[in-house]
Amino acid sequence: MHLTICWLYPTSMNIYGDRGNVLALERRAQWRGIDVTTIGAGIGEPLPEDVDLFFIGGGQDGEQVAVAHDLQGAKSEAIRRAVDDGAVLLAICGGYQLLGHEYRPHDAAPLPGIGLVDLVTVAGPERFIGNVVVESEFGTLVGFENHSGLTTLGPGVKPLGTVSVGRGNNGIDGFEGVRHRNVVGCYLHGSLLPKNPVLADWLITKALERRYGAVTLAPLDDAFEHEAHASATARAVATR
Ligand code: GLN
Repeated sequence: MHLTICWLYPTSMNIYGDRGNVLALERRAQWRGIDVTTIGAGIGEPLPEDVDLFFIGGGQDGEQVAVAHDLQGAKSEAIRRAVDDGAVLLAICGGYQLLGHEYRPHDAAPLPGIGLVDLVTVAGPERFIGNVVVESEFGTLVGFENHSGLTTLGPGVKPLGTVSVGRGNNGIDGFEGVRHRNVVGCYLHGSLLPKNPVLADWLITKALERRYGAVTLAPLDDAFEHEAHASATARAVATR
């Protein structure tokens, strides 16, 4: 099988090591004998055709201004069409904020989002920084957050999960992230996927199933991944 990953804005939207998510997706597919092609699509660059999985990482407000405007129009439409057709998308923090209708930063005019998910983000007075533990359909997810944006999901929009440690979407409703079709958006840096292998494999499986039908990934020896997950979760709980 073959997996095509489109890494959106690999240089602009890649803070706190979010590139580790792309490495984890590539390796966990390759370790199962799946061929992977990863294509970067930066500002002014076209989106590749026939993408199975989109990834966009986090970014500072300044980077998000240029990215938000570059996404408007044809790129947003192409991503929405692919997701409606079952393509997978993982968006972290600043990338997650741009999935919605709008992101209103502190020191810039409101930024238009892709309009993929019914959510809005507004920069708040406090920067949420710290470890995060989330209870989700993928089990316990662990990472860390560093954002001032406060994200509110529209009525009926499904969160990724509920926060057991940390602040999450807005520090008020107890939700973290968003789930929409085969889309996962969240504030979890870490990077997220190396220490949350269940989610990594779900993303790979869904991306392959759109092209090949039912897919069952061979199990991997995830001893290191589980140890990293347990260690990060224990640290998060101990320091909350
Ligand atoms: N600039 C956005 C915020 O501060 C996103 C930050 C990030 O991607 N870590 O909320």
